[in-house]
Amino acid sequence: MAQSGFSVCFWGTRGSMTPMTPSAEFGIHTTCVEIRPASGAPILVDVGSGAFPAGLSLQAQGITDYEVFLSHLHADHIVGLFRFSPLYRADCRVRIASAHPQLGGALETFLNLPFHPVPLRELTADVELEHLPAQGEIELPDRSLSVRWAGVPHPQGCTAFRFDDGTNAFVLATDVELAVTDALDGLRRLVGEPYPAGLLALDGFFTPEEVQRHRGWGHSSWAEARDFAAAAGVDSLVLTHHHPGRTDGELAALEKMDPTLNWAREGQTLEMSNNEAGVVENEE
Ligand SMILES: [Zn+2]
Repeated sequence: MAQSGFSVCFWGTRGSMTPMTPSAEFGIHTTCVEIRPASGAPILVDVGSGAFPAGLSLQAQGITDYEVFLSHLHADHIVGLFRFSPLYRADCRVRIASAHPQLGGALETFLNLPFHPVPLRELTADVELEHLPAQGEIELPDRSLSVRWAGVPHPQGCTAFRFDDGTNAFVLATDVELAVTDALDGLRRLVGEPYPAGLLALDGFFTPEEVQRHRGWGHSSWAEARDFAAAAGVDSLVLTHHHPGRTDGELAALEKMDPTLNWAREGQTLEMSNNEAGVVENEE
């Protein structure tokens, strides 16, 4: 019998840049999230610096077929391309899809001289770029998943994604300004239709005090994320894209203050089953 369900692993939980202080618990890497169907190859969302450990781990598992979705092209979401090891393997195929209108030109500039010694088009792997419409849906039959996406408010635009196997749904909006309430219909539909997502990961970059001073920056407070999830009827919220200035102690204190808040930890895996998310304990 085919297995159902999928797991979600946070390889990078930080926004903007790596933290100013070491972080053993919540992590130092910028956004990279792996969605791993019970049967089928993994999918990555964003290739922040977390793509470096993700690439090494997946390659060690013998994965050669990489499906990558980019939420947008800000540097903290693509900087891991420099060290994403499958790009340098002749047996690997890496398909990078994004709704950002400058996908091809931007990546060809970023992965090119003088920023990178090997131009994108000369990388060893079979690299394919796919420009997605602003919103849409595709089936990945080999991964038993559908991927649906919509734009969310963020400077120069950003895309939120819903991964759905028909029973379990996970929605990820890494960079979103939830205070721009009249631009959230796409995200609301992703979260609620055709059934409420069992797991929602949202931008929790700011505190409620900080966000007041940073309107228009494209990010949210943990309180805005909590309120959005509650209004959408989602029980399981995980905050990500943590501020680089937030220490482990500060994040742990925030989590303790409100036990309904879960702050993503680097390397943490959540298993989706019966549309509920359970934490997978690491074996080490
Ligand atoms: Zn970001």
